[in-house]
Amino acid sequence: MSSQPLGLENYQRPQLVAPQGARKVLLHSCCAPCAGEVMLAVQASGIEQTVFFYNPNIHPAEEYMLRKNENKRFCDKQGIPFVDADYDKDNWFERVRGLENEPERGQRCTVCFDMRFERTALYASEQGFSVISSTLGISRWKNMEQINDCGLRAAARHEGVDYWTLNWRKQGGSQRMIELARKEAFYQQEYCGCVYSLRDTNRYRLSRGRDLIKRLVKFYGAEEKNESDRLIVSSRD
Ligand code: SF4
Repeated sequence: MSSQPLGLENYQRPQLVAPQGARKVLLHSCCAPCAGEVMLAVQASGIEQTVFFYNPNIHPAEEYMLRKNENKRFCDKQGIPFVDADYDKDNWFERVRGLENEPERGQRCTVCFDMRFERTALYASEQGFSVISSTLGISRWKNMEQINDCGLRAAARHEGVDYWTLNWRKQGGSQRMIELARKEAFYQQEYCGCVYSLRDTNRYRLSRGRDLIKRLVKFYGAEEKNESDRLIVSSRD
């Protein structure tokens, strides 16, 4: 993929059509860098949206708070409602018990997505949203099929709720996600979220003689001063 900027201000966004032509969507969000571009894409198509932040998988608590606050900061800026759902991490640990050593994109992640989307679909059903989706799918670290399977399964539990399986990476979405993250100087997390992903990413880095993850200190765009031609999203490698 080209690393040439698409031009955030001038880019002609595609007109998106939600399932059943729905005019409002409940958007599960995992973090500001992933959510930013998805939110703007939905907004540009004239579709009303509410961002639903339910991520009990993010540990430790200060990491969770920073990611949540970054997402809320951008929602406030864009005038998009932000729902701050529970941080019921004890339930999360209970659900993934026995899957601690699964690799990223494995069964633990399926359980993790299921839990987050089940809560999203329940809120949608209770609050009158007919369509849900998630920003998780824009990340190249994620398995789109796995995410969509979980989303569809969660939505199917509630009559009248559909999961929108749009691939947010396409039509320039991935590239614009990075450009927007730099422009907004979003916090740049270096692991997926759970303690197991933190452990495994650090193990991987150690095995290659690289520095361990430094949490809470890295923001998109800061590296450009020294490495202007490097795609900073690659820091999780
Ligand atoms: S690696 Fe990410 S998606 Fe998988 S269980 Fe951990 S937080 Fe959830």
